[in-house]
Amino acid sequence: MAKFKTSDEIVLLRESGKRLARVLNAVAKEIKPGVTTKHLDEIAEKLIRATGDTPPFLNYTPHGVKVPFPASLCVSVNDEIVHGIPGERIIQNGDIVSIDLGLTHNGMITDSALTVAVGNVPDEVTELITETKRGLMEGIKAIRPGARIGDIGAAIERVAQSHGYGIVRELGGHGVGHAVHEEPYVPNYGRKGTGPLLKPGMVIAIEPMFMLGRENIMLLPDAYTVVTEDASLSAHFEHSVVVTKTGVEILTIE
Ligand code: MG
Ligand code: MG
Repeated sequence: MAKFKTSDEIVLLRESGKRLARVLNAVAKEIKPGVTTKHLDEIAEKLIRATGDTPPFLNYTPHGVKVPFPASLCVSVNDEIVHGIPGERIIQNGDIVSIDLGLTHNGMITDSALTVAVGNVPDEVTELITETKRGLMEGIKAIRPGARIGDIGAAIERVAQSHGYGIVRELGGHGVGHAVHEEPYVPNYGRKGTGPLLKPGMVIAIEPMFMLGRENIMLLPDAYTVVTEDASLSAHFEHSVVVTKTGVEILTIE
């Protein structure tokens, strides 16, 4: 797996990311009380296929897991952090819903996620969502040629710590492009000036997950859904980005 993408591949990744952002934002608008999480997945898959692209999460089998992921979209509600499997669950007023989606365009994969509140939620929950997104943007701001992977984690961790949020330490960002998960791994915590060097042409997904409670997490028996052990709420945001000659470019925007 090439660690560095060619300029032709980056052109395709830019288009992949734009298409993904369009679909993800359209699905986000459908998140309302009364709809099932399965409905969101169906919309995501339909919109991806409508432009001739494919959903890379469908039937993806992560290392060490026996069953392939059965959907195009991950939908994680409330204390579910990531990798929730869409199904018959009905979204309620007051829920917070994270959606995570990949898209393959001409062989090139991008990955993005966001969290929205449904109806009215307490201020501390709105703040969790806003600050998780800020953690993502601060992490991205730390990216430029010559910076290191640890700089990203340090920037994300600083935002979480300023609010006392838990950080998911077992999961993090990753290289992306030819496969859903590539090297390098990008922890959501770290020390400045440590870890692999960032160089132009690297394409990585940055994805902080913050929670209101303690940092312990559990995996549900479905082999995919990751939840907070203390049932506290969590939020998740993700962009795929490319390291450029002068800094960083976000790929997963419209
Ligand atoms: Mg993702
Ligand atoms: Mg990802």
